[in-house]
Amino acid sequence: MKVMSCNAGSSSLKFKLYNMPSEEVICKGMFERIGQEMGNFELEYNDKEIEREAKFENHSVAVSYLLDSLVSEGIVSSLEEIGGVGHRVVHGGEKFAESIKIDEEVIKAIEEVSDLAPLHNPANLIGIHAFIEVLPHAGQVAVFDTAFHQTMEPETYIYAVPYEWYEDYGVRKYGFHGTSHKYVSLKAAELEGKRPEDVNVIVCHLGNGASICAVKGGKSINTTMGLTPLAGIPMGTRSGNIDPAIIEFISEKENKTVQEVTRMLNKKSGFLGVSGISSDNRDLEAAVAKGNRRAQLAMDIQDKKITDIVAAYYVYMGGCDVIAFTAGLGENSARMRKSICDRLSALGVKIDLERNNVRKKTTLISSDDSSVAVYLIPTDEEIMLARDTFELI
Ligand code: ADP
Repeated sequence: MKVMSCNAGSSSLKFKLYNMPSEEVICKGMFERIGQEMGNFELEYNDKEIEREAKFENHSVAVSYLLDSLVSEGIVSSLEEIGGVGHRVVHGGEKFAESIKIDEEVIKAIEEVSDLAPLHNPANLIGIHAFIEVLPHAGQVAVFDTAFHQTMEPETYIYAVPYEWYEDYGVRKYGFHGTSHKYVSLKAAELEGKRPEDVNVIVCHLGNGASICAVKGGKSINTTMGLTPLAGIPMGTRSGNIDPAIIEFISEKENKTVQEVTRMLNKKSGFLGVSGISSDNRDLEAAVAKGNRRAQLAMDIQDKKITDIVAAYYVYMGGCDVIAFTAGLGENSARMRKSICDRLSALGVKIDLERNNVRKKTTLISSDDSSVAVYLIPTDEEIMLARDTFELI
């Protein structure tokens, strides 16, 4: 059976088509600038790349265009071959601890938690509606970024604020990147030749958005993001955790609303805010090479906060077997991986410089006498969507 994984944003749609259960990738690609005057479409299959510019009025038009292309390029002979579509949904609130087959009730429940992710859930729903309309025979499955973290204990997910905020509005830690944390922790267990139940893994998902997760015996027991993806460690443009009183302080100093200050914490902080140069790690590394001290400071702040969290999770889990680095920075920046492992030397973590000289490839990067195995494990959220979809339908 062929299964499509789909990640819809407000003006974009990324897709990957798999043969299941072999997990062979048949094709992949994306749409950008949906709803604008001119959009673009990319499709990759059999070492062939197609790039087209066209107007895609909305997501349904884009999905129809995609399916027509699959048939006209001979990638599928009939749309009936696509038995399921797995949709990434950012927020499942407390309602969804697992992936689920989509029906009217599930759509309603996703709408109900949309106030917790107002930028993401409505876009994800647009993708779901588009595929239901254009591919009505296929089973549709929702895979939630928050679901993997539903195993956290109340002492971890309840904030020390008036309890009614939780009861009345659902204010609590939810955590995100769950699909990635799950994939990488399962892979780490496999690499160690152990069952997921028998390993403790700390996953560092470090991209523009970044979060860390403590996975004990296959279950998420803590993670750094919170009610929203603004919390936790500093990121490309997000502040991560700060003293909450800063918001009022700055809003008074600069005569800004709470929304304006929060936007600055989301869009103008992190690497970008501290360095004043860029949110992109590559730009910061280039600036540091030319002696830029604020770029160095931006990276040092992030490395320190990551180390604080890894050390705390190590203690909280009663030790760990694997530390795994993944996502854009985790998979590409040997500098960052070395910096964090060096800062963890008190735990007996030792990096092997030669092994660490690697990008985007599953690799053991710790030395043989390291107390913890450290791996680079490229994440693969799409395959998790396809697996859950295939299983559920
Ligand atoms: P997103 O959260 O948007 O998916 P990514 O996972 O793509 O983010 O990660 C983007 C980050 O990865 C950027 O800071 C970028 O500089 C960094 N990165 C990507 N490639 C490299 C590289 N070759 N060397 C160092 N950093 C890299």
